[in-house]
Amino acid sequence: MLEEKKKDLLDTCRKMEELDLVVGSSGNVSVRDGDHVVISPSSVHYTEMSLDDVMIIDMEGKVVEGHRNPSIEVQMHLEIYRNREDVGAIVHTHSVYASALAVLGEPLPPIIDEVVPKTGGEVRVAEYAMPGTSELGVNVSKALDGRSAVLLANHGAVCVGKTLKNALRLSVLLERACKIYHLAKQVGTPNLLPEDVVEDEMDLWDLMKDH
Ligand SMILES: [Zn+2]
Repeated sequence: MLEEKKKDLLDTCRKMEELDLVVGSSGNVSVRDGDHVVISPSSVHYTEMSLDDVMIIDMEGKVVEGHRNPSIEVQMHLEIYRNREDVGAIVHTHSVYASALAVLGEPLPPIIDEVVPKTGGEVRVAEYAMPGTSELGVNVSKALDGRSAVLLANHGAVCVGKTLKNALRLSVLLERACKIYHLAKQVGTPNLLPEDVVEDEMDLWDLMKDH
C-alpha cells in the first residue's frame, strides 16, 4: 500500500545523504497519509535501503506494513503529527551547521529574508532529551509551535512541510542559513532583520504553511 509515498520517501532519504545532511543511517523521514504514516526504517543505511525496507505505521506507532523496525524517532514523528494538522511530512537531519548551533543551544535568529517566511521566524532549540524517547517528541513539538523548523539540543534539526519535497528543501535552506550565521559571527555581530519585516514575513509563513 501507499507505493507512491514509499517511493517518495526512499527518494528523500537518498537525497538527504547525497546533500550531506546525514551520514549512514542517521536522521529519519516520514510522510503522513490520513491515519497512516510512512516512515524510514531503523538502522538501514540509505545507500542500501530499498522500497521493501520502508515501513507503514498507524498513529499509535503499530506496524501496518514492513518487516523492519520503524525509525527510533517514531514517537517524535507521531507527536508532531498529533499536534500539527498542517504538517504532512517530516525530515530529521544531523546536518553540520544546524547541529553546531544546537550544540551551542543557540536559536537561529531571523537574519535572512528568504528564510523567515519558510521557517516561521526564529528557529528555536528544543530542550535536550535522549534520542528515541517520547520526551524528545514533546520537547520538539513544543519548540516547533508556529514554526516549520526546529533545532534539537546536542543532536540535529527537524524540518516539516506539507510535502516531503518541501520538508527536504527547508532542511537545505536551514543548513545554509545556519552556515551564514556561523560565518557572520566569526567576523562580527550579525544584524537581525527589522522587527516589522520579521512580523510581515511570519504572516507570510502563516499564509503559506498549508501549501
Ligand atoms: Zn537524530
